[in-house]
Amino acid sequence: MPKYIPEPFRIKMVESIHLIDRKEREAALKRAGYNVFGLRSDEVYIDLMTDSGTGAMSDKQWSAMMHGDEAYAGARSFFRLKEVIDEIFAFKHFVPVHQGRAAENILIEAMQMRPGQLVPSNMHFDTTEGNIRARGGIPNNLIIQQAYDPKAILDFKGDMDIDALKAWIEKKGPENIPFGMITITNNAGGGQPVSMANLKAVSKVYRSYKIPFFIDACRYAENAYFIKLREPGYADKTPLEIAKEIFSLADGATMSAKKDGLVNMGGFLAMNDDDLFTRARAALIMREGFPTYGGLSGRDLDAMAVGLKEALREDYLAYRLGQAEYLAGRLRDSGIPIIEPPGAHAIYMDAARLLPHLAREQLPGQALSAALYLEGGIRAVEIGAVAFGQLVNGKWDFPALELVRMAIPRRVYTQSHLDYAADVLAEIKTTASKLKGMKMTYAPELLRHFTAKFEVLN
Ligand SMILES: *Cc1c(COP(=O)(O)O)cnc(C)c1O
Repeated sequence: MPKYIPEPFRIKMVESIHLIDRKEREAALKRAGYNVFGLRSDEVYIDLMTDSGTGAMSDKQWSAMMHGDEAYAGARSFFRLKEVIDEIFAFKHFVPVHQGRAAENILIEAMQMRPGQLVPSNMHFDTTEGNIRARGGIPNNLIIQQAYDPKAILDFKGDMDIDALKAWIEKKGPENIPFGMITITNNAGGGQPVSMANLKAVSKVYRSYKIPFFIDACRYAENAYFIKLREPGYADKTPLEIAKEIFSLADGATMSAKKDGLVNMGGFLAMNDDDLFTRARAALIMREGFPTYGGLSGRDLDAMAVGLKEALREDYLAYRLGQAEYLAGRLRDSGIPIIEPPGAHAIYMDAARLLPHLAREQLPGQALSAALYLEGGIRAVEIGAVAFGQLVNGKWDFPALELVRMAIPRRVYTQSHLDYAADVLAEIKTTASKLKGMKMTYAPELLRHFTAKFEVLN
């Protein structure tokens, strides 16, 4: 059992949470069509739906917000943020945006990507993929094969397959690739980190073909800490030093500060190229706002400036990675199958292995997500057939894995909350063979899992 690293903070403001009784949970779940996206937050006890924008800000962030300069142009808040972004990321230019997907949208527009062009990555996150497709581009995932094996234990399971990348670029032609990416950590693949060696190799390949290299940096601080813990030669470096080395390898980055920026809303797009910046700035003014605020309030920029630095603190990162490891350990002890090794921001349970009596058509992931809520008021999200499967004329095309994700908001829940979640799951496990399957009764055309409705199979 991994030891729980105590929270490196104490609590001076609290938000009440409340477990409504089982009858009320039953009614809420039914009303929501057995889809936890349809629940009101008040009906949820422990909310593990996402780690995005759900973190707790520090006293220093809240006090920085009081210094927010709300000037339309040239606000002091912008220059305070600039100082921090220059220090950590050190790209020549950046623009603030309201969240990560806005940075992606503006990057793709400024890159003047043409329909049919291709964008490689280890694994694109779904908003990145959506933004590329929305402009007629084609996202490609070139992660190492072991990433698809939930039992394979690797230090850096988010690494890109360098040989596959080279062969793929040769085949497709570098002229058809407006830019290349890598996601750190790999959210779509379990939050797995990428090694420095791999980042260097990817950078070298992209540069040898003159393909601009952009890092999807949402969880760069967590990735930097994994490098410190696991990669030879980095044990004595600080997360900040490691982060600087990472970004020195790239031509720019997209960032959702709702993750490792420790804010509830915010992000940025950074780059070295002057012409690209000129085009990005023009796109930004059109869609987000003037380049010194980019769709955010001055106070948001100040909170981000402080949050970006706090997320690189070693005591925070040790606790953060420790939380995931602790929850993973408790689930292992109860025999709950999870994706190994755990990343830093979430634990992914293998619902198909936990509920082998249910066929894929009976939606074991959805059934487990509903059971977690019913038994414990816990909200976790299905990432399986409902989220990623194709359903054509009543016939399913299933994704490889049937998962349920418990994401861990930053600095929000304590060890006892995680213990509670683990206890509820242990309880579910003892009666798992009796859990009933689900049938989808309503599904919208796009982004099905947000609004789909279900019934319990009898
Ligand atoms: C969250 C996320 C995004 C998108 O950011 P938003 O702030 O949600 O728009 C992009 N990439 C990765 C890896 C993410 O985790």
